[in-house]
Amino acid sequence: MSSQKGNVTLSRPQKHQNTFTFKNDKFDKSVQTKTINAKLHDGVCQPCKEVLEWSIKYSKYKPLSKPNTCVKCSQKAVKDSYHIMCRPCAYELQVCAKCGKKEDIVIPFNKEISESSENQGFNHGRSCKRKEDSDEDFGAEADSDGGDGDTHA
Ligand SMILES: [Zn+2]
Ligand SMILES: [Zn+2]
Repeated sequence: MSSQKGNVTLSRPQKHQNTFTFKNDKFDKSVQTKTINAKLHDGVCQPCKEVLEWSIKYSKYKPLSKPNTCVKCSQKAVKDSYHIMCRPCAYELQVCAKCGKKEDIVIPFNKEISESSENQGFNHGRSCKRKEDSDEDFGAEADSDGGDGDTHA
């Protein structure tokens, strides 16, 4: 019996790996949409905010692949679609980052309260459910801990 021939088949690469790339692309797209929806349009005036919300609602919103040039500081620092100004400039001048007018900003840049409070609500509901599960785990953990008998003074 010659068992050496068996080793040759093991070194062959598997063809199944190709399917992974396709799946990954699909997943990436949904993540991007989620990010846009979760993002609040801070630093813009009411009319501009409505325009941005509308474009997202009807899937017209196109996220920037690379930053645009800011009309104030001429830096490639505009990371939001349809905005003409980067965040630092709009914040400093207290103007709308989209139209550049000195309008009332709906959500100023430095305030991110509404986003975090929304997340807190979600976490609260989850932690309540998890508490029941962790109770059972606690008993199992204590059991194995006693068996170890760690004697360290
Ligand atoms: Zn700027
Ligand atoms: Zn505006």
